[in-house]
Amino acid sequence: MKIARLFLLAGCFAVLLAGLAPLPLTAQAPANPTAPASNTAAQSAPANAQQAYTLPPDKLAKAIALSRIRDILEIAGAVWGIVFLWILLATHAWSGIEAWAKRVAGRRWMQGVLFFFAFFILTTLASLPFDWYGQHVSRSYGISVQGWGSWFGDQAKALGLTLVIGTLILLLFNWIVRRWPRRYWFGVWLATLPILVLSLFVSPLLEPIFNKFEPLNKNYPQLVQQLEKVVARTGTHIPPSRMYLMKASLKTNGLNAYVSGVGATKRIVVWDTTAGRIPDDEILAIFGHESGHYVLHHIPKMIAGYAFALFFVYWACAGCASWLVRRYGARWHIEELSSRAGFVVLLFVISIAAFLLQPASNAFSRHFEHQADIYGQEAIHGIVPDPQKTAVAAFNALGEAWLEDPRPNPFIEFWLYDHPSVQARANFAAHYDPWANGGHGKYFAH
Ligand SMILES: [Zn+2]
Repeated sequence: MKIARLFLLAGCFAVLLAGLAPLPLTAQAPANPTAPASNTAAQSAPANAQQAYTLPPDKLAKAIALSRIRDILEIAGAVWGIVFLWILLATHAWSGIEAWAKRVAGRRWMQGVLFFFAFFILTTLASLPFDWYGQHVSRSYGISVQGWGSWFGDQAKALGLTLVIGTLILLLFNWIVRRWPRRYWFGVWLATLPILVLSLFVSPLLEPIFNKFEPLNKNYPQLVQQLEKVVARTGTHIPPSRMYLMKASLKTNGLNAYVSGVGATKRIVVWDTTAGRIPDDEILAIFGHESGHYVLHHIPKMIAGYAFALFFVYWACAGCASWLVRRYGARWHIEELSSRAGFVVLLFVISIAAFLLQPASNAFSRHFEHQADIYGQEAIHGIVPDPQKTAVAAFNALGEAWLEDPRPNPFIEFWLYDHPSVQARANFAAHYDPWANGGHGKYFAH
């Protein structure tokens, strides 16, 4: 989910957490899906082994080519983001922008607003070529159907949100650094925790800025009835009034259904590219997976996991940033870490840490996704005639719609995938039958 990701990104400290938002909440994956070690091993078995996710030859060629482009774009984009921050440090552009903000604004907080506006506008412009090319490729492969006017409009709205939310967060963090120059990392860590929780709560409220929603009941009352059976079996307490249809077809041919929000903002969203286009049973399978994230408390667990990791990451980054300022401060025209430009040094170190820790964060995520897959398949048992077949069909539909590579490179999977690969997920689903011989599932007694 792009907005939630953005919301977190806004606080750059949260660059690290960028992976959090998309993962607990979506079943799909424009660039995602992997498997626990055991499945990965099964998957890299000989090519002639029976695979549960297959594509016709023309789509297969496209999927392989597209995956390669997506992977390169993702890695190159992340590296470029880091290099860009460094170039502006090395040319002392950040300290120049700080001096400019001091000249044009009197009040300290206004200087901060100007500085961080400049920061977000420059970093957005720097990543624009990658985003633009990604959109270009997605259109030429027939996944995106969004016109350029609408696409640039979305980019502008996203930048607007970042300017408001991101600037507030960075002002707060920068203030903490100035107020407690020695132990600021602990204060920043404390401040990150409520921001994380709040972003999950608020993200569904921001979604209508980008997409249109309507009650799912309006055109798909039958599907709502079916979904309610899964709601009853899983005990997720989501009434039909919290089920929405998103008009994704204006922008994409991809499939998706997800659960988002927490507490009062909790809801089910089914894309209109999914409802009516794939069998309802398969939507139930996707929904069962999403329900798993809720029932198994993946969101609080993810937050706890990130909070634990960030405690050490912030501590380590604070040490590295101080060292960089001592070593290169004179060259970069930066006297102290607590200045605006000095604060960018901290953001620079955190972006590097975020990039290096991505495999760890993704492994954490893939573990939860696999659990949700098991849960989802069990959740539709007794509701659809053959859960194995339905789950395999759903993975094939998702994989084909997003042109997922059936045999991704294991290293790429390890580094970039926050879900198991579609192949690993389909293979698991094809063989998962706990009810054979009168047994029962891991999460349900029958
Ligand atoms: Zn998931």
